[in-house]
Amino acid sequence: MAAVEPVKCTRYRCPHCRKTGSKRAYMQKHADGCAAVPDNRGCKTCRNDAAEFVLASDASAYRKVRTCAIGARDESIQIITHCQKWSPNRDVAAT
Ligand SMILES: [Zn+2]
Repeated sequence: MAAVEPVKCTRYRCPHCRKTGSKRAYMQKHADGCAAVPDNRGCKTCRNDAAEFVLASDASAYRKVRTCAIGARDESIQIITHCQKWSPNRDVAAT
């Protein structure tokens, strides 16, 4: 049986939310519209963003589900950007 070999690879990280990916163009597109950037008026920087913990169907664990306190987005969508009803959260207002 042949021994396994170590492999080094390059990944690209969003400077705003720390998401990583293997494709530079994909990650640059993500970083340009990242929901963690206040200028993009996304849920991650909005004071109306809230989280609920929902019990999994097999009751083995809870999972986090994002909600909008003022119903500005469809519940089937987890995060949006460029929201008309966006309002800065505490972290954004402090900067
Ligand atoms: Zn990001």
